Amino acid sequence: RAFNFNAGPGPIPEPVLTKAQQEMFNFEQSGAAVMELSHRSSLYENIHFKAIDQLRTILQVPEEFEILFLQGGATLQFSMTAQNFLPKNKKAGFVLTGSWSEKAMKEASAFGGTTVLASSRDSNYNSIPEVDFSSLPDDIAYVHLTTNNTIFGTQWPEIPARGSKPVILDMSSDILSRDIPWENVDLAYAGAQKNAGMAGVTLVFIRKSLMETADSTLPPSISYSQHADKKSLYNTPPTGAIYITKLVTDWILEIGGLDAVKKRAEEKSGILYEMIDDSGGFYSGHAEPGARSNMNVTFRLKTEELENKFLKEASEYGFMGLNGHRSVGGCRASIYNAVPVEHVHALKQFMESFQKNNS
Ligand code: PLP
Repeated sequence: RAFNFNAGPGPIPEPVLTKAQQEMFNFEQSGAAVMELSHRSSLYENIHFKAIDQLRTILQVPEEFEILFLQGGATLQFSMTAQNFLPKNKKAGFVLTGSWSEKAMKEASAFGGTTVLASSRDSNYNSIPEVDFSSLPDDIAYVHLTTNNTIFGTQWPEIPARGSKPVILDMSSDILSRDIPWENVDLAYAGAQKNAGMAGVTLVFIRKSLMETADSTLPPSISYSQHADKKSLYNTPPTGAIYITKLVTDWILEIGGLDAVKKRAEEKSGILYEMIDDSGGFYSGHAEPGARSNMNVTFRLKTEELENKFLKEASEYGFMGLNGHRSVGGCRASIYNAVPVEHVHALKQFMESFQKNNS
């Protein structure tokens, strides 16, 4: 198998793939694959509710929150949050920390007013701005921030303390790799295809009291309350993707829960950042040290020519997905939960020998 450093979809833990393969033709003696079962069958429902229970356990989600499985990716959440919680006379406050925050704001602005509360755009999103949510203007309906910036390789080291306004988090690229201080959060969403499984399902954690404030005139398909009332079975859910998420939660629990994945994430990013810092400027990290992501390590080489050579040789060696996002260039190693520590060591060694051969 490749050394897979893709930014998402990325690798899936091997024990998950193995289990899915074993069960593919005959899930629990049913004679069918999970994705061939009715979503109303008890066999499927067991998977669905176990996945929800295990997510609650791993992330210590309080009972005041519903956990939903929706579709449309994190991208649909950009506008669905606004449709539900942005009245016409108010504004949604965005903290801009990268392209995904910008996209979230753009999508929300189709439904109402938006405003920028803070931004690190001037420094090409290499840092996380200071924010103070304790004294926001009255006309702010909610605040939105992106906890990990997949493209620029920055991450909020801590989720800021809340004020009186609801806080909505896009956690697409660091869900299941960090603690979530639920007292400072009202809604968190994440596409599954980085740390929680495969593309097709979006995890949504929503405070029940926030849900009750939603616009009640919405079509049921975009109402969080409707999905919660129907336990994410309002329409046919992405059963195959939810099954994979369930297997991912089994795997996380088996290896020691959130503490274990957190530790692994820190270890893996530490290996790469240390190597970059010790390279004497041959490699340079994009993110400021205090804002570095544990999930996406972005770095540059001295010239574009050298970067192209690096990426070509890396790809020949079996490394996948090391090119930076097309909007920023450079290189990026995404080291989601499924990336084994050994693959990160292999990348470090490759980078060291590339440096030796090209200095
Ligand atoms: N938000 C973040 C932080 C992302 O990294 C991505 C995808 O990479 C998205 C949102 C968009 O997710 P989706 O493609 O699932 O809509």
